[in-house]
Amino acid sequence: MASARLGAVSRGGNEYRLPDTMKAWVLGGPEELALVEKPVPEPGPTEVLVRVDAIAVCATDIEILKHGLPAMIDGELPFNKGFTPGHEYMGTVVKLGPGVDEFHPGERVTVEVHAGCGRCQRCREGMYTSCLNYGHRDKGHRANGFSTDGGFAEYAINNVNTMIPIPDEMSDAEATLVVTAGTAMYGLDVMGGIIAGEGVAVIGPGPIGLMGVAVAKALGAQPVILTGTRDGRLEMGTRLGADAVVNLNREDPVAAVARITGGKGVQYVLECSGAPNALNEAAKMVNRGGRICLAAFPGEPVPVDLAYLVRNNIYVFGIRGEGKSATHRAAALMAQKRFDAKIIHTHSFPLADVPTAIKYARERIDDAIKVVVQIREN
Ligand SMILES: [Zn+2]
Ligand SMILES: [Zn+2]
Repeated sequence: MASARLGAVSRGGNEYRLPDTMKAWVLGGPEELALVEKPVPEPGPTEVLVRVDAIAVCATDIEILKHGLPAMIDGELPFNKGFTPGHEYMGTVVKLGPGVDEFHPGERVTVEVHAGCGRCQRCREGMYTSCLNYGHRDKGHRANGFSTDGGFAEYAINNVNTMIPIPDEMSDAEATLVVTAGTAMYGLDVMGGIIAGEGVAVIGPGPIGLMGVAVAKALGAQPVILTGTRDGRLEMGTRLGADAVVNLNREDPVAAVARITGGKGVQYVLECSGAPNALNEAAKMVNRGGRICLAAFPGEPVPVDLAYLVRNNIYVFGIRGEGKSATHRAAALMAQKRFDAKIIHTHSFPLADVPTAIKYARERIDDAIKVVVQIREN
C-alpha cells in the first residue's frame, strides 16, 4: 500500500532512489514566484526528507509574497534568497537523516510548521512558535515556509519533532488541514479552559475560525456560536458543529450572543477575523472573568476600550501559529473523525498552478476557502 503510493519514487535497499533535483517554487522579489529546478535537500541528524504530496495555501503565504514578513531568513526579509514558501503540507517519508529511527520510509505524515531552535527558553516551554531565535538558522531554528524552505516543492526537510503520522483513511488534502485545526486548538489551549460545557464564540469563519468551531465542539463546548458575514461559510460552521451562527449583516453579534446565552455571555471568544472592532465586541460577548484569544490581527493599530477589560477582569491572549504540540492533538481528533475538516477544502490545483491556487485563495474566487495544491494524485 505504502510503496504503491510512492509512484515514481522507487525503493532500493533502505532508501528510496531519489532524483538529484526537484521542482520547487522560489520567491524572488515581492509577488515574484518562479518554478525552478533545485537540488533535492539532504536530511541532517534529527531530520527527515519528506516527499510533498499535497499543500494548502494559507493567508500567511499571501502576506509573505507581498511583504516578506512574517517570513525571515537569518534576520532579513526572504526576498531573492532562493526561498521556497508554503507551510501547510503533508507527504511521504522518503529518507531518514543519520540516527533517525522515529519514522520509516513510506510512512505518510502531516507536518506542523515550527520546529523552533530547541535551545531557547520559549522552545523549552513548548512555545516554539515564539522561538527567541526565530529566523536564525545558525541557532538551529526551523519554521518551514517562514525561515527555512517550505512545501511548494517536490521534497522538503522536516525536523522529526514536526511530523505527525496520519492514518491511511485520511486523504492527502484533508491531512494538509491538520495544522489549521492545530492553530485553533492552540488558541483554545492558551485560554486554559475546561471547555466542555462552556460557551465559546468564534468571530470570523475563515479556515482557523471554522476549525475553531470544530475543535471547540469536539472538546464538548456548549454553546458554540460563530459570527461572520458570508452565509456559505456560516453554513459550513453549522456542519462543523456550531450550535448557532450569526450573520452580522442581519444581527448585532454582541446582542446575538446575549440572546443565545440567555444574557449570560460566553466563557471564551476565539477572535479569527482581524476586524478593527473585534476585540471590543469580544469583550462584550464574554462574561466577567472571561477569556479572549486573538488569532488574527487588524492591518492597522485600533482603539480598544481597556477600561472595560480591566473592570470586568477579562483576560486577553494572543497566539502565533500552533505551539505546544496542539497540532498532534488536532490530528488525533481528525483521525478519530470527530469532525470533517474536508468541508473547508474547496479547490485543488497541480504543482504547476501554484500562482493560480494563490490567486483563488487571495481573491476568494468562487468562494474559495482552503485551496489545496495536489502535488501527487492519491
Ligand atoms: Zn498557515
Ligand atoms: Zn527557540
